[in-house]
Amino acid sequence: MRKFKTESKKLLDLMINSIYTNKEIFLRELISNASDSLDKLYLSALQNGDNSISRGELKIAIAFDKDARTITISDNGIGMTKDELDKNLGTIAHSGSLEFKSDETEGLDEVDIIGQFGVGFYSSFMVADKVKVVSKAYGSDEAYSWTSDGVEGYNIAQAERDGRGTDITLFLRENTDDVNFDEYLNEYALKRLVKRYSDYIRYPICMDVEKTRTLPKPDDAPEDYELETETYIENETLNSMVPIWTKKKSDVTEEEYKDFYQAQFHTADEPLRVISMHAEGSISYDALLFIPTDTPMNLYSKDFKKGLALYSNNVMIMEKCDDLLPDCFGFVRGVVDSPDLNLNISREMLQQDRQLLAIERRIEKKIKQELEKMCKEDREAYISFFGKFGHALKFDIYSSYGAHKELLQDLLLFQSAKEDKPTTLAEYVDAEEEGQECIYFASGDTVNKLAKSPSVTSVVNKGYDVLLCADNVDEFCLLSIGTYSSQEMRNVASGEDLGLETDEEKEQVEKKREENSGLFEAMRGALPDDITKVTASSRLTDAACCIVADGPVSLGMEKYFATLPADDEERPKAMHALELNTEHPVFATLQALHEAGDEEKLEQYANLLYNQARLAEGLEIVDSAAFNEAICSLMK
Ligand code: ADP
Repeated sequence: MRKFKTESKKLLDLMINSIYTNKEIFLRELISNASDSLDKLYLSALQNGDNSISRGELKIAIAFDKDARTITISDNGIGMTKDELDKNLGTIAHSGSLEFKSDETEGLDEVDIIGQFGVGFYSSFMVADKVKVVSKAYGSDEAYSWTSDGVEGYNIAQAERDGRGTDITLFLRENTDDVNFDEYLNEYALKRLVKRYSDYIRYPICMDVEKTRTLPKPDDAPEDYELETETYIENETLNSMVPIWTKKKSDVTEEEYKDFYQAQFHTADEPLRVISMHAEGSISYDALLFIPTDTPMNLYSKDFKKGLALYSNNVMIMEKCDDLLPDCFGFVRGVVDSPDLNLNISREMLQQDRQLLAIERRIEKKIKQELEKMCKEDREAYISFFGKFGHALKFDIYSSYGAHKELLQDLLLFQSAKEDKPTTLAEYVDAEEEGQECIYFASGDTVNKLAKSPSVTSVVNKGYDVLLCADNVDEFCLLSIGTYSSQEMRNVASGEDLGLETDEEKEQVEKKREENSGLFEAMRGALPDDITKVTASSRLTDAACCIVADGPVSLGMEKYFATLPADDEERPKAMHALELNTEHPVFATLQALHEAGDEEKLEQYANLLYNQARLAEGLEIVDSAAFNEAICSLMK
């Protein structure tokens, strides 16, 4: 017996033991896999120039056996080789690129975990305690079986099968007091499940059903002849095969879209928004797009592959067509079907296809419109959306060096310090005080820390709002935007002039700076080299001091660079200035020490203030032992 990989076993255990109530989706998952295998076969035959396979012969069959208590789902699709059986069914397949890490799943309940991974083939074990797969791959003469009880492992053995394709037989679990697994062992139950979850599947899903017919009356029948009936078997197609994406949105229920979304994309979340597009004319296509509720687990990893499924006349030509979806909207799932595309299209040709480019542009526009609408009309939903996918939008502005700012800047949300809720740039500008000339922001670890940092409170106390940026990419994104509504972005923790004082105030600060230059010089000498100057602050209202960046690298950037893998010397570092509030009582103490010539104490205080200012900005204390000692000596 081959053992399941640990991660698969964990998932199986969860699946089997979870109280996952929606057991019936096993059929939808298996039918969806069968349909994929037919798509893959057809595509592969096209690419190999194999004309022997006609679309008409491709089908899915369902059968059940009441006595043996089995349900079998068959397809004449691409099948699996011995290796593929091992690889695809022995590990978590469609999430194979993911690692089933417990730290990533900590805190999620079982349904969430299963949702994150999609359910797929393993959902069989929710209803079956033994599953047997017999498969013959396209182009091979050998068939193999894969059998498992879903607990420890599985066996693979040589088997027999007429022709290519796959049969999956589920041996149903024993009924319990709570669950009656026998309920699936009848025609009506299976028909209902197909209708509900798999109606749109573009291949016939057939089942042999027993029918009764009345026999014609014989010509020589006596008067009191009683009509006779006979039963016969008819192979019935259970699904309507009308692809859901060709239907008008008003003809489809939310439930139907949800069922399709979950089956097609192997996910358990619900679509947050559904976008249905139908175009005729120079380019004709139908597109059905979904904005997900949950982030796919690997969205922000390099394993993530964006793209929309591409069909031409209902035939799948590509599972994930990258070119149809702009990077910034890579999280969108969906299908595009266009009759104008060349079926024999290769990837390279696709990339140059002008039709495809035109479709992509319209899709981009449509997604943007839908998001803008949500942002305006349903802020709560949008905030939740932005929490999950906002990073992708911000990152795209940054990585395109601002080239995509027109497309994306009005979709961004930042936390407003004044309002204590997320705001758009447009709302920020609308709410500005008269005479405000720039857009203020602050960047750091968390919104809460930022809201309390002196550089932020000093600006807010003067009546101006500050955007609190706690995402690594925020500051880079804002700087890539550069100007919005003709206003520059200004980091409140930069040494630059924030334009907050009157000329008179400026003069006064300048005066203080001159008067106290000796004190400032003495303090600077006691501080580390990255402090380029100590000076009087024009911004501080309550706090005794703050540090600001002196130069192009901001504190936030420095923190971000510190997370990147590089040698310490190579990382860009911020140069800092320590600004003192000359109105604060502490300042008088410093002046007194300087006048009394108590250099030792002045040095100690300078260091204390410097570290305190670092802490307030979310930076670490430079020499914590010295810092602690200084505090204790103060208390003595
Ligand atoms: P997913 O379908 O999301 O990839 P599953 O766990 O449902 O994940 O299936 C794992 C893999 O097993 C599939 O990706 C596919 O390669 C293979 N597979 C499953 N069912 C079939 C089938 N009926 N025919 C061919 N291959 C199949």
